Amino acid sequence: MTCIFCQIIKREQPASFIYEDNLVVAFLDVFPINKGHVFVTPKRHEAKFCNLTEEEVQHLFKVAQKILKAIQASDIKCEGANLFLSDGPIAGQEVMHSHLHITPRFKGDGHQVGFSHSDPDVYPRNRLDQIANKIKKHIL
Ligand SMILES: [Zn+2]
Repeated sequence: MTCIFCQIIKREQPASFIYEDNLVVAFLDVFPINKGHVFVTPKRHEAKFCNLTEEEVQHLFKVAQKILKAIQASDIKCEGANLFLSDGPIAGQEVMHSHLHITPRFKGDGHQVGFSHSDPDVYPRNRLDQIANKIKKHIL
């Protein structure tokens, strides 16, 4: 199996790198939503967010914050940002090597983010509590 991100990490494919350490790398998306759209990804190949180690997850977000600060300090237009991670093809994950997107946003950029779908059922509090409990009991 050929993973484009693994190839980029091994320098077998070109990328515009922003950051690298022993756990993660960051480089520009070649199909950016806006200028400065960055991927932050663990060096280790892993498709699923839930299979990343706790250390990888912590570090991924720590580095993402560092990079967003750097974007904001640069002259790249960035009035706000979206950080998102698509986990699984159904959620729009296109590269099966887990990665976090950092996308600079600014007024009038034309990009839409929002909830295009919502569960049509409006639940009473006791039903919401039941759903919360279904999740809570599995938190390790
Ligand atoms: Zn990979």
